[in-house]
Amino acid sequence: MSKKVLVLIEIKDGKLRNVSFETLTVAQQVAQGGEVSAAIFGSGASSLVEEVNKYGPHKVYVIEDETLTVYTTDGYTQALCQLIEEIQADIVIMGHTSIGKDLAPRVAARFDAGLVSDCTAVSVEEGEVVFTRPIYSGKAFEKKVFNQGKVFATLRANNFETTEKDVQSEIISYHPVIKDLRTVIKDIVRKTAGGVDLSEAKVIVSGGRGVKSKEGFKPLQELADVLGGAVGASRGACDSEYCDYSLQIGQTGKVVTPDLYIACGISGAIQHLAGMSNSKIIVAINKDPDAPIFQVADYGIVGDLFEVVPLLSEEFKKV
Ligand code: FAD
Repeated sequence: MSKKVLVLIEIKDGKLRNVSFETLTVAQQVAQGGEVSAAIFGSGASSLVEEVNKYGPHKVYVIEDETLTVYTTDGYTQALCQLIEEIQADIVIMGHTSIGKDLAPRVAARFDAGLVSDCTAVSVEEGEVVFTRPIYSGKAFEKKVFNQGKVFATLRANNFETTEKDVQSEIISYHPVIKDLRTVIKDIVRKTAGGVDLSEAKVIVSGGRGVKSKEGFKPLQELADVLGGAVGASRGACDSEYCDYSLQIGQTGKVVTPDLYIACGISGAIQHLAGMSNSKIIVAINKDPDAPIFQVADYGIVGDLFEVVPLLSEEFKKV
């Protein structure tokens, strides 16, 4: 049965987030011939509509309200709820980003609807939309089907193919009524600036306690730069103050799914694996041949990371 699907498009640093293209592609699939709409918020949103169009939504709602320029839970909830009512969406999809994680449960609760968070696969089986998500820190997967009501889902980045679609979208300037905002963001002071976004990076070079110091992260950063990737870390490295907690990957850090994950001096504790074991290719560099990380690695290098990592950088520079 065809569905009306609404996708939240996210902008970061003036650009559309890749996960938004993934959500749009999934939306086409689950709509089963129904209408796909996209909602894009914030100043400059209209200049990015062309890019959204490439992924074929039938309608793009542009919401350029000045109170919604910066994300607030309250403001976005009000706007999105009104839009969902207006288009009578059956399924609402967002990225499993910090915004999606915050917004989706709140909006779903307003509609007394179900939410499947952190989906790694979505399929349509005999007309039913099946959402797959990892449970028990990725040791098992559950499949969820909803028999009635609206459905909300957040999708884990880097898990879905993106497909462009040649459809002329209808662009609609949407003006929700935003009132009694409890939070107003005056200014954002960023801790780190620039670089590749860890949660969407295709390549991650990650360091653990074996990196031994802040300085020790330099060869990892160099390898990440050569490969056009980002640097991540284990909690061991963060707790030891070798790097910032914003880099932490794992159960209590970020969940990542890059094409290539290079773990350097990381033992492979279950809590770390929870954040990276779905990476497409895992390379582990560890001087202990019995380190558990080798059990999940596709390629293992037993050696000193301070010798191996610079060698890898040199070799990749030649490619
Ligand atoms: P270690 O376990 O100390 O391993 C260091 C590794 O480096 C060793 O295997 C060693 O052989 C190797 N090594 C040392 N020197 C070198 C060298 N020169 N060259 C090559 N290899 C070298 N951890 C996370 O990562 N993410 C989380 O989100 C997270 N959440 C947690 C939540 C809870 C509730 C708890 C209890 C723990 C959590 N942890 C998390 C911590 C986790 O259990 C581990 O303690 C942590 O992952 C260990 O970090 P590590 O592998 O860097 O350090």
